Amino acid sequence: MSQLNPVTINKDFGGAIGASTLTVFLPLVVLFLYLACNDQYIAEGVKIDASKVAAIFKEQVLNDWKNVFFNSECWVFYLSWFFTLVGLDIFIPGKVISGVQLRDGTKLKYTINGFQLVGFLLVVLSSRVYLYGFHLPELDFLYDNFLGMMATSWIFSILLSFFVYFSSFLNLSGNQKNGKGTKERILSVGGNSGNFLFDWFIGRELNPRIGEWDIKLFCELRPGLLLWSLLNLASLQRQYQRLGYVTNSMVLVNVLQFIYVIDGVLNEEGCLTMMDITTDGFGFMLAFGDLCWVPFCYCLQSRYLSLVEINLSSIAVSIVIGVMITGFYIFKASNIQKNKFRQGKLPHLRSIQTDRGTKLLIEGWWGVSQHINYFGDMLVALSWCLPTGFNTILTYFYVIYFSALLLHRQTRDEEKCKNKYGKYWTEYERHVPYKIIPYVY
Ligand code: NDP
Repeated sequence: MSQLNPVTINKDFGGAIGASTLTVFLPLVVLFLYLACNDQYIAEGVKIDASKVAAIFKEQVLNDWKNVFFNSECWVFYLSWFFTLVGLDIFIPGKVISGVQLRDGTKLKYTINGFQLVGFLLVVLSSRVYLYGFHLPELDFLYDNFLGMMATSWIFSILLSFFVYFSSFLNLSGNQKNGKGTKERILSVGGNSGNFLFDWFIGRELNPRIGEWDIKLFCELRPGLLLWSLLNLASLQRQYQRLGYVTNSMVLVNVLQFIYVIDGVLNEEGCLTMMDITTDGFGFMLAFGDLCWVPFCYCLQSRYLSLVEINLSSIAVSIVIGVMITGFYIFKASNIQKNKFRQGKLPHLRSIQTDRGTKLLIEGWWGVSQHINYFGDMLVALSWCLPTGFNTILTYFYVIYFSALLLHRQTRDEEKCKNKYGKYWTEYERHVPYKIIPYVY
């Protein structure tokens, strides 16, 4: 293998065995959450009972598997959704900016058009609500075919990860050649081990593209994130149809999560410096995460609230909003500060100069903890779970899982930075000892 694409020696996630286990385990978690949170189950109470989950699994999945996995209506819906967004992504004009520098010294170009896209989609949605009220047929379809849509997005993510895996072996076409004229693709540092299963799971190619269309950034910011908001709306609509009104807990979950989704879609430029884009390959892990895990797990709170009527007191509403605002502020302010600093806009803040040309900030948010932005994200996650009350641990799945994900991410990033910065990282750790939560961890 060339110098451009070194072979992966340290295999993350426990190597091929870990990758195979997660490939099976993660879809089962999404399925479990559905089985434990649907009208049949909730109607009987919210305590998780393995025998009930197994009975619903048998009835809805095993006995009806053809309809779950090969439901033509779900496939038509999903493919129309995905490829309409692809078309909009390609054809809506926007500002063209460069990504971070790649290993061969070149930078990829990205069209930033999230703002225009969101505007367009909101106009379409508002006109549909104007015509149909809270009886949109597509939202009813999504709610009633939740399991089929989930299975469809899962199979689609498998197909997509095979596509990008096999394409990574093909030479680049003329317009995709990198700056030095080589036809070699840039592979991810972590997904080029030569083991098929591991590389397929982690993602072999760093930035798979068809022409100028970037598959990874698209999947990260469009079909899954926006579907998550639609699924939330579908739950809101169903609650309205059932109760004749919408509870404040449902409004809170919809609004708070919508703010996060829209912030993600609009913050395309910020995403270009995130680990997922700069370091991780695009394989099953990201494809499944973006297309199936995010929409179908993250909408759990609204789905639960569509089945259980919860009205919060004004104090509870204020607490939830307070936790969200605090978390969101920390998350945004710290990420913005790092981005501005890296662009040379905050030279007055104290930092450590490294021999890699970059500086490590040790003042402001980044002097408080090494990943203060993760702490903000954890508070946001908590604020989405609180409106569901305290009757079940199920609806706290998101904050528990997400904190574990960020802890794991912090250890991966620490390893990367230790290797990259060596003694400068040790010095940085002396200045900023806490990893995520100040004075705790
Ligand atoms: P960070 O934004 O924390 O970026 C880490 C990188 O920043 C390091 O690898 C290093 O990169 C650089 N860096 C680290 N410390 C410093 C410092 N003191 N000064 C300057 N640069 C520094 O991590 P992520 O990319 O993982 O996360 C970005 C955001 O996305 C976070 O807010 C996170 O919570 C969120 N997120 C959300 C997810 C979701 O599903 N909602 C999933 C994952 C993340 P370099 O090599 O360039 O020096």
